[in-house]
Amino acid sequence: MAWDFETDAEFQKELDWISDFVTNEVEPLDFLLGSPYDVQNPKNQELVRPLQDEVKRRKLWACHLGPELGGPGYGQLKLALMNEILGRTRFGPVVFGCQAPDTGNAEILAHYGSDAHKERYLKPLLNNEIVSCYSMTEPHGGADPKVFTCRAERQGDEWVLNGEKWFSSNARWASFLIVMAVTDPEAPPYERCSMFIVPTETPGVNILRNVAVGLDSEEEGSHGYIRYENVRVPADHLLGEVGQGFVVAQTRLGGGRIHHAMRTIAKVSRTFDMMCERALSRFTQGEVLADKQMVQEKIADSWMEIEQFRLIVLRTAWRIDQSKDYMKVRKDIAAIKALMPKVYHDVASRALQLHGSLGASNEMPFAEQVIDSFHMGLADGPTEVHKVTVARQVLRDYAPSEDLFPSRHIPKLREQALAKLGEAFEHEVGNT
Ligand SMILES: Cc1cc2nc3c(=O)[nH]c(=O)nc-3n(C[C@H](O)[C@H](O)[C@H](O)COP(=O)(O)OP(=O)(O)OC[C@H]3O[C@@H](n4cnc5c(N)ncnc54)[C@H](O)[C@@H]3O)c2cc1C
Repeated sequence: MAWDFETDAEFQKELDWISDFVTNEVEPLDFLLGSPYDVQNPKNQELVRPLQDEVKRRKLWACHLGPELGGPGYGQLKLALMNEILGRTRFGPVVFGCQAPDTGNAEILAHYGSDAHKERYLKPLLNNEIVSCYSMTEPHGGADPKVFTCRAERQGDEWVLNGEKWFSSNARWASFLIVMAVTDPEAPPYERCSMFIVPTETPGVNILRNVAVGLDSEEEGSHGYIRYENVRVPADHLLGEVGQGFVVAQTRLGGGRIHHAMRTIAKVSRTFDMMCERALSRFTQGEVLADKQMVQEKIADSWMEIEQFRLIVLRTAWRIDQSKDYMKVRKDIAAIKALMPKVYHDVASRALQLHGSLGASNEMPFAEQVIDSFHMGLADGPTEVHKVTVARQVLRDYAPSEDLFPSRHIPKLREQALAKLGEAFEHEVGNT
């Protein structure tokens, strides 16, 4: 029997260490520092670097990577078990060297970058000396990348980029951007675009503003609205072949989506803990909230949804480890991408409601989490698009009925059963 839901004892020791370390050393940073991506900020350097060194000594740095890129090559399942702890905090992923979108961008550079790119961009990225940005969505269309207009044209030894992108997260701190641009508007829709590395300091990379989401103040905005104006990059800054932009994008998106889901388990589990504590602590009309059936329903629904979500995420991680191919588990990844915002939204909303006015305030994290659940339902493609993928993949395993009625139509099945067993049945009837 191969079904086994236990973590091996040796790795469990690592997880216990990670849990203590995150609670005692990492979590305090969340309340004192600004963005984890602001790597040049002296305070970040002073407080984050020593923790990263400790993680490296423990050989837990960049666990999403194989040994050829400096990670331990633990695979997705162990990474999932780690991420469901790291995701409890804002700084956890950065302290352990596995934060989005740098993980996905590193995967792109590892697959498609030249030796020179790896030296200049990948190495410092993996060391978190710099951070990166993925710049794909355009203001007039994100869910349908076939309508992109940002252009890249070849001029001599250079590519020249012109156009607008927005929601380019972390652009303000990034040393380079990975930009998708149209290289041949006449090509078939999925061969029109190519992918480029663009150093952020290149003349013509103009960040018009840093868009903020939800409750964040304007100063905290981190989603760059960028105008690329005659931005020139060397010809070799093309990643992959001309027209392969979508193929290159897939390299990062599979991993990126499941890693978000792993961290979301951490967030909802913590929120659930808070909900339970509150239910047991708050008295109203002579009893604790936990004694009221409608509160019990919230607790039960939340627990069941989290457990289901966690199991499908872990099984998907396991399947990736088995197949070593994100495309083979496309259906599973699309399913968890669609489930993630719903579980997150529903659990955070119930926690907010159970905490009453306190829950709605900015002294608790729930309102921010509700907004963050929409982030999870939009970034890397909206939920609807992923549900379409799930349905299409599921339907591949089915065929239409061969005649007017369904193949499981009861009269038809009865007829088939009679054709097979009719004789024995007649014999039995004859004996009575
Ligand atoms: C916090 C945050 C961070 C992000 N970070 C990045 C980043 O770093 N880099 C980057 O390139 N992009 C980033 N994005 C952008 C994200 O990828 C897009 O928001 C997403 O692809 C949707 O595009 P859109 O916002 O233009 O929505 P639209 O394309 O306008 O779609 C709007 C809505 O229409 C509906 N819809 C769309 N298509 C379908 C369909 N086929 N069937 C049914 N309904 C549909 C959905 O409800 C969808 O939410 C980020 C977004 C957010 C919110």
